[in-house]
Amino acid sequence: SMFKGGFLADVYSERPIGQNDIDKVVTRFPPEPNGFLHLGHSKAILINFGFARFHGGDCYLRFDDTNPAGEEEKYFTAIEEMVSWLGFKPVKITHSSDNFDRLYELAEDLINRDGAYVCHCTKAEVVAQRGGGKNRPRDACPHRNRPLSESLTEFRAMRDGKYKPQEAVLRMKQNLEDGNPQMWDLAAYRVLDSEEKPVRHYRTGDKWKIYPTYDFTHCLCDSFEGITHSLCTTEFELSRVSYEWLCDKVEVYKPMQREFGRLNVSGTVLSKRKIISLIENGCVRDWDDPRLYTLIALRRRGVPPGSILRFVNELGVTKATTTIDIKRFERVVRGYLENTVPRLMLVLDPIPVVIENLTEDYMEMVELPFSKDPAFGIHTVPFTKTVYIERSDFRETASKDFFRLAPGSSVGLLKVPFPITATGFETDPTTGLVTLVRAHYEKPEEGATFKKPKTYIHWIADCPSKNSPINATVRIFNQLFNVDNPDSHPDGFLAVVNPVSEETYPNAMIETGFAEIKRRAPWPSLEGERDIASGETRSETVRFQGMRVAYFCLDRDSTDDNIVMNRIVSLKEDAKK
Ligand code: ATP
Ligand code: MG
Ligand code: MG
Repeated sequence: SMFKGGFLADVYSERPIGQNDIDKVVTRFPPEPNGFLHLGHSKAILINFGFARFHGGDCYLRFDDTNPAGEEEKYFTAIEEMVSWLGFKPVKITHSSDNFDRLYELAEDLINRDGAYVCHCTKAEVVAQRGGGKNRPRDACPHRNRPLSESLTEFRAMRDGKYKPQEAVLRMKQNLEDGNPQMWDLAAYRVLDSEEKPVRHYRTGDKWKIYPTYDFTHCLCDSFEGITHSLCTTEFELSRVSYEWLCDKVEVYKPMQREFGRLNVSGTVLSKRKIISLIENGCVRDWDDPRLYTLIALRRRGVPPGSILRFVNELGVTKATTTIDIKRFERVVRGYLENTVPRLMLVLDPIPVVIENLTEDYMEMVELPFSKDPAFGIHTVPFTKTVYIERSDFRETASKDFFRLAPGSSVGLLKVPFPITATGFETDPTTGLVTLVRAHYEKPEEGATFKKPKTYIHWIADCPSKNSPINATVRIFNQLFNVDNPDSHPDGFLAVVNPVSEETYPNAMIETGFAEIKRRAPWPSLEGERDIASGETRSETVRFQGMRVAYFCLDRDSTDDNIVMNRIVSLKEDAKK
């Protein structure tokens, strides 16, 4: 486990529990409800929830909702759902906005301690005071040394709507001599609401015209919740100083902020703005389009949550930012599915094979195991005069290097006792495509032997009385981009979108075992989808391995008479299908 050694073990040992009246680990996962979570967030989720669980502690899900402009109810719901999908249960769901009153009081307190002042400088003036981004001497703002009482009056005026956005900002009075820009009088509160541009917070409505910044809010909310380890990504490394400064200044309990490296993935884009642009340009259908790497998209595609946890766990935790090729992620998913889902026969692009030496009413029931693991059980499928096989498993001309079906050569049908040999075929005169293959069932005379075929292919009988085949539309997802670095491609990411990122097979067929796996879902081995707290299995996701084809999952577009399947991943890396 990623908590046993290394970075997280070091972080744990820095604050031995038992000191300072702290009897257990308390962490938080603090997303801003302004977008959907993506694969990168799963690292922060696993670190925060996993670290607490590993040490017998608690983890909060805290919505860091101090920027009303981009925040929406739908994100809030989706985030909560994704945390639970990954198998974690917050001890409590909280909101930074729960603390708006308390934060406001602490802001007045900070002013009274000579730790903040109201500033009326323009943005450009503040940039110039800070040395224009260069490490030049910094100038104090002219309002920095105004009397406390004046700042207090002005701060209340900000609260009461006297100022428009940008006209007044509460700034912390930190240390301009410090080399760390996080100490150069950061903003603590700003006006966001005005008559021209009213702002409504999705929870506090129009109660507030001023909102606290991340730098003011985060450490104090951590403190209120008794967070012991505030674990965040390394872009907040410099913020550790301002975090501690503020807790000390207002004399509240000071949690320990420590930073880990972000998880970036190459070959895709994760930024909200870019995903919106992909949707607007019709490159993907929506936020949960299975070609994306948002968590809702991965869920819809059929990626098991346990495989995401395994992936993050295998990467381990360090301070370094890791950029991972999405192929590596797919490898973990593939490995995870191999032993956790049942197997069925699915034909993507079927052609009928008529076995001429079988009678019209011939029916033999063939036993198929659901997995190499006997715990999955077995089922039976009918074998009849007409079976469907994959178009790519037939060639019009036999050759030495082709071991599947061709005129004059034999192939095995998975689990059918004897091979078939093709005797002829028909094509469509306009398209030239094969429309039908004729074959012979090589059942030997009583007691005679037969030649075992080199290859066995998947197949599905035409047998309406047994509801075979089950028709389906299959969506195959390829890489969304033609390059590994769409984010930084000189022509822009839209220029390198793969035009065939999705291929549809409208005439696919699934064998009758599908009805049974649908009934039996979820399968017992999907431990990743068990609710950790209750031990109950929650997901009804229907996944299987289409033998010789790929891993599939039932898409939410499916209806009772129109089954839509998503390819989760191919069976082998770099396989076309
Ligand atoms: P994004 O800009 O990608 O939405 P963010 O930094 O705005 O990410 P939040 O929505 O505030 O992130 O995410 C909540 C938590 O998830 C934060 O603690 C953040 O550090 C962490 N997080 C976000 N992206 C990643 C990532 N790629 N890898 C690891 N942790 C991440
Ligand atoms: Mg975000
Ligand atoms: Mg953010």
